[in-house]
Amino acid sequence: MRCANPVDLETLVAYWLGEVPEPRAALLEEHLFGCASCTRRLEGLAALAAGVRAAVKEGMVGMAVSAPFVEAMQRAGLRLREYRIEPGGSVNCTIRADDDAVVSRLRAPLGGVTRLDVMRVHGGGPEERLADVPFDAEAGEVLLIPSAAWLKTMPAFTMRMRLIAVGEAGERPIGDYTFNHSPS
Ligand SMILES: [Zn+2]
Repeated sequence: MRCANPVDLETLVAYWLGEVPEPRAALLEEHLFGCASCTRRLEGLAALAAGVRAAVKEGMVGMAVSAPFVEAMQRAGLRLREYRIEPGGSVNCTIRADDDAVVSRLRAPLGGVTRLDVMRVHGGGPEERLADVPFDAEAGEVLLIPSAAWLKTMPAFTMRMRLIAVGEAGERPIGDYTFNHSPS
């Protein structure tokens, strides 16, 4: 059964953590009491680690997560929009009001890589960098989840991400990825 007015993920997480103040909490409970769909999503959250919190709180780069984490999000009934992108490639992407999160699968040759950083490449401003992110060398991909709350506020924009292998010999760029975002 679909919910006409689904509680957003950030609010569900806050509620799950007991951080929604009254009287908002009471209103939420009223909705959850009558809504099997949102209740199921809330229950699913309990199966996830505190990483969910970071998934909705992190900044523009967002967070890098493991494949099992994404699988747990799917099992939890969260609505994920996925994009797969090859090194040097670009993708037209969006987020809809009823998406809980966007998952970007950055494809990359990761054999022999011991530490991987993700950098947001700006035209100007300070760069953002996530150090030592989880990656799956065998699957050849890095999974990134930007802040859904932030993304939903954004007009059309272009974001570039770069994967950088860090080793004793220094740093080696692995690939650039371009996201052409437009609002839904
Ligand atoms: Zn609902």
